[in-house]
Amino acid sequence: MSKPADHQQLFENALDRLRTSGYKVTAARRDLLKILCQTGDHLTSTDVIEKAAQAKRPIGRASVFRTLDLLTELGIIRPTYLHRGAPNYIVMPENGHHAHIICRDCSQVIEINECSIDEMIDALEVRHNIEITGHLLELYGKCKDCE
Ligand SMILES: [Zn+2]
Ligand SMILES: [Zn+2]
Ligand SMILES: [Zn+2]
Repeated sequence: MSKPADHQQLFENALDRLRTSGYKVTAARRDLLKILCQTGDHLTSTDVIEKAAQAKRPIGRASVFRTLDLLTELGIIRPTYLHRGAPNYIVMPENGHHAHIICRDCSQVIEINECSIDEMIDALEVRHNIEITGHLLELYGKCKDCE
C-alpha cells in the first residue's frame, strides 16, 4: 500500500497534467481524480459513482463517463480489464509506470512497485526509433486460493 502523501502527490500531479493539456479543473474532474488517487485502486465507473455519492459529492453518470473518457484520452488514467465486467481505471503516474499481477480466476490484483524493464525499454527505443514515455505491465496467473 502506498502512503497517503504519495496519493496527494499523484493527485496534484494529475491536476497539473489536466491544466497543462488546456483543460479546466471542474468539480467533477477534480472529485473523480481525487477518488481514483485516494483509493489507489482499480475502480469501475460504478465504483466512482458510489464513492462520490458516499462522500456527499455526487457526480452524474454521464459526467463520470465523459470525464473517464477525457482523462483516458489525455493518458492521465488508463482502463484495465479484469476477468469479467466493466473496465477498471487506474491513475498513471507521471513517470508512466504501473505494474500488477492479476489472478485469472478470482481477479485479485496485486500491485507491484518494483520494475526492472528499463533495459528492455532502452533497447526497444533504439530498435523501433521511438521514445517510450510509460508502460502498463500486467502479469497474470493463478493465486494460491484458486489452485
Ligand atoms: Zn494495478
Ligand atoms: Zn485467485
Ligand atoms: Zn515499471
